[in-house]
Amino acid sequence: MKIFLINFIIFLIASGCLNAQSGFDLHFNKGSMRVDLAFAGNSTTQSIYLLNVKHEPYWGGSRMNLIDQMNLGDYRFHIIDKNLQDTIYSRGFSTLFDEWRTTPEALSVPKAFHQTVTFPYPKDCFIFSLEARNQQGVFEPCFTTEINPKNKNIKKEQASNIEVQRILHNGNPEQNLDLVFIAEGYTASQLKKFEQDVHRMATSLLEQTPFNEFKECINVWAVCSPSDEEGTDIPGKKKWVNTAVNSSFNTFNIDRYLETEDVINIRNYAACAPYDHIIVLVNSNKYGGGGIYNHFSIVTADHAISEKVFVHELGHGLAGLADEYYTSDVAYENFFNLSVEPWQPNLTTLVEFEKKWKNQVPANHPIPTPNQLKYQDQIGVFEGGGHVKKGIYRPAINCRMKSNEADDFCPVCQEAIRKTILFLTD
Ligand SMILES: [Zn+2]
Ligand SMILES: [Zn+2]
Repeated sequence: MKIFLINFIIFLIASGCLNAQSGFDLHFNKGSMRVDLAFAGNSTTQSIYLLNVKHEPYWGGSRMNLIDQMNLGDYRFHIIDKNLQDTIYSRGFSTLFDEWRTTPEALSVPKAFHQTVTFPYPKDCFIFSLEARNQQGVFEPCFTTEINPKNKNIKKEQASNIEVQRILHNGNPEQNLDLVFIAEGYTASQLKKFEQDVHRMATSLLEQTPFNEFKECINVWAVCSPSDEEGTDIPGKKKWVNTAVNSSFNTFNIDRYLETEDVINIRNYAACAPYDHIIVLVNSNKYGGGGIYNHFSIVTADHAISEKVFVHELGHGLAGLADEYYTSDVAYENFFNLSVEPWQPNLTTLVEFEKKWKNQVPANHPIPTPNQLKYQDQIGVFEGGGHVKKGIYRPAINCRMKSNEADDFCPVCQEAIRKTILFLTD
């Protein structure tokens, strides 16, 4: 018995289990902390302002993987323990603000957007340090503040009388991927439909590779947030409705781009459940959606291919994947600096291709790879992607990140999703 115990302790130390567990409990309390920020600026400048700090009841993320090793996102924050002067948590993310900065409007008018980040609730005083990528793709500090978790002004109010349903449950949120769906544009009498819609979306997600490989570690929650009116805003049709999180089509003047800047209300509702990623499900049959890395994904429920759009948007929101299409009505300006490697896992400028999927390209495939039938269903380097026709390359002729005709994610996107799920479920 004694020998077994010693062996068991050696195993725990060797696996890093003991260190990481005690590390979490040493630095963090129950629940999570939410920092609300305003990101303001134009196409060339940005300023970050602190709005609020909140204590939320759950933490749905990993207790093991606290330091972000994935190097994804346009921004990254660090939680630095003040006494230890050491990072105890970090995470990359992207913003609607940074996307807006590449639109023509940002050349002529400064604007501000809400942004929120969450992390496990620290026990002691810490430095909240935010970094933004510069034109060379290198992170640079852009905002720093000290936060005392014991400050009595930290807000604690919660959304009240909101029903939360477990749609899929596979156990402990800290070791599972928890997807929380927020109801948007469903009136109180339509919330049963919302639950059915979430169930349909979750079922179709679990049929898609690689999500089907993780069936036993995905939890799905439905937060039944009622709206006064049904549907969503459609400015092109002069349709304006009062809904739970104020979503709208025609974001950045793109008709099918469905988004909302009301991330504060989204987070208030999401806090009703433990979660890794938020999906806003919109009660509409119009085609559209959006997804921003570690921000949230949003999609309509009732278009004929809503399930496919949902999986595509989750590729953006959960795994930081880029669009692989390049002929569209989306006209962002200077979205990529072609002289540096983009951070998105499924795009390359070939500047540092060895950091991407080079080792997966068969030796006899030309780089760039011509768009020919014989390379269909093969990994290659195909020109065009990320809304850019020239100088940006994608891994496959077709992929869920390229078109709705694709049956699956390409192997490079699949691998990026696997990596994210493993990081969140350890
Ligand atoms: Zn997309
Ligand atoms: Zn792909």
